[in-house]
Amino acid sequence: MPSPPSEQPQHDDQLALFGPPQRARIPAELWQSWLDDPAVVARFEAKRYRRSEQTCWIWAAGISSTGHGTFRAASLPGRSRRGTVPAHLFAYQLEHGVIPRLGWSGADDPCLCHRCDEAGCVNPAHLRLGTNAENRAEWARRHRNPHGPLADLRGAAGRARAVAAAIRAGITAGDTADQIERRIREAQTAGAPLTLW
Ligand SMILES: [Zn+2]
Repeated sequence: MPSPPSEQPQHDDQLALFGPPQRARIPAELWQSWLDDPAVVARFEAKRYRRSEQTCWIWAAGISSTGHGTFRAASLPGRSRRGTVPAHLFAYQLEHGVIPRLGWSGADDPCLCHRCDEAGCVNPAHLRLGTNAENRAEWARRHRNPHGPLADLRGAAGRARAVAAAIRAGITAGDTADQIERRIREAQTAGAPLTLW
């Protein structure tokens, strides 16, 4: 998702999750071990709400302050944040294989951009590799669209949390897929800016 220039670039997501000063440089072998572990993948899929191919697949669990899903890939005892990764990084690599240095800091490192501008989306078809400069340019181009996700008055995190909560509520209530779609739409439009004319 494009983020405002004043905010932390996307590659700092993991930094935020782990807390400074430790940088979350997850080695490719560790990513691979998670992606190869059926139990880890099953836990991931249990939190990913899949819909039709073109639509956003929503992360229906924890959301970070930047609006991205958080997934504890490592099976660690206790409430440690170690081994917790941005869910969209996991989704992309689950589809395309491990991308070396993905999520590491540094100007030349790859970052993941959301084509759909929904930070909480974990549909790999909506994610593409890019640079932080591209990410900022996309944000500058798109954030003024009053109908787009970037205009949400709740911010990316508020929006993603509201949509995730709506899905969980629908599942708990035993809703049909259509009823959950309605809940998602309502949760999304609740943050739209008022149009006066
Ligand atoms: Zn999406």
